Amino acid sequence: MKPFGYVRATTLQEATEAHAAHPGSRYLGGGTNLVDLMKLGVETPGTLVDISRLPLHAIEELPGGALRIGATARNTDVAAHPLVRARYPALAQALLAGASAQLRNVATTGGNLLQRTRCTYFQDVSKACNKREPGTGCAARDGIHRDHAVLGHSAHCIATHPSDLAVALAALDAGIELYGAGGATRTVAATDFHRLPGDHPEQDTVLRGGEIVTAVLVPAAAPGSVSLYRKARDRASYAFALASIAAVLDLDGDTGRIRRVALAFGGLAHRPWRATTAERALTGAEPTADAFREAAEAELAEARPLRDNAHKVVLARNLACDALGTLHARARRSP
Ligand SMILES: Cc1cc2nc3c(=O)[nH]c(=O)nc-3n(C[C@H](O)[C@H](O)[C@H](O)COP(=O)(O)OP(=O)(O)OC[C@H]3O[C@@H](n4cnc5c(N)ncnc54)[C@H](O)[C@@H]3O)c2cc1C
Repeated sequence: MKPFGYVRATTLQEATEAHAAHPGSRYLGGGTNLVDLMKLGVETPGTLVDISRLPLHAIEELPGGALRIGATARNTDVAAHPLVRARYPALAQALLAGASAQLRNVATTGGNLLQRTRCTYFQDVSKACNKREPGTGCAARDGIHRDHAVLGHSAHCIATHPSDLAVALAALDAGIELYGAGGATRTVAATDFHRLPGDHPEQDTVLRGGEIVTAVLVPAAAPGSVSLYRKARDRASYAFALASIAAVLDLDGDTGRIRRVALAFGGLAHRPWRATTAERALTGAEPTADAFREAAEAELAEARPLRDNAHKVVLARNLACDALGTLHARARRSP
């Protein structure tokens, strides 16, 4: 491993100043992704700015019922939090579907959202990868790509985003709170936080240089709405999604029709894929198995599978039908 410096920040200002003072530095959360990538030679920061001890661990309810999850809150603590379990099952289930208990005990909320793709060509410095080294090409396109994107990929990159948490946050209309140089703060919608690869696959997110994720803001859950997260993968645990879905359903108590639905797919694209076509088709509709299937198929009509990953489209459709059917049954049982 290449030698690197280490700075432990005690305030946000100290962290952004240290980042600016050491070009090419990286923030360190739990280190479960960054340190692995340093061992592989994919990340070579001159300095690590440790932000894991900043006072950003709190998970708190805001006036009006929204939830604010601090960026250094550990995945285990978020998944086990009573308000998360009671009001946002999709969020708790997404976190518990990720990694292993040991990793979740260390991994932070901010680090989880900013983990890099698991594309094996990105992780192998002997292979061409536009995300790791712009302009070198994409070895995955003609290589082993059964895990790669079917939606929104570009000629430059077919990688997928790996975070399960990010998918749940996209469906829950969460916001990502950021702190940048000079103390500037802004909040970006979770659906806009990660990018499609386009011509610049080296940019995973809309984060500006030196910005820190300080918290995630999850709006109050609508009374009576139900949510879940489903993930299809090669092993029952310790595996990334081939396809996944976060779904939120709210039925009109009088008519039984769908008042509101939110769907986000994981494992299919370079970012969580908010299924707006399916949502439009389902809003106001009767919640039937046919309507669920037709909406999922309309969304996935946009898919452009590669040579070896057309199975993902079928998986995604079936996950959507299963998730919506399950939520419909639950919503009918809720008071
Ligand atoms: C074997 C294995 C299996 C896994 N399976 C899954 C899975 O199925 N699903 C899943 O979602 N994840 C999975 N993970 C990934 C794991 O969840 C991530 O490694 C973890 O969430 C990253 O969090 P961290 O705090 O350790 O991040 P770090 O490794 O510390 O940081 C990751 C990146 O985020 C940046 N960063 C960290 N915090 C901030 C911040 N607050 N603001 C700005 N930048 C920041 C760092 O600079 C770095 O670039 C798996 C990991 C392993 C090793």
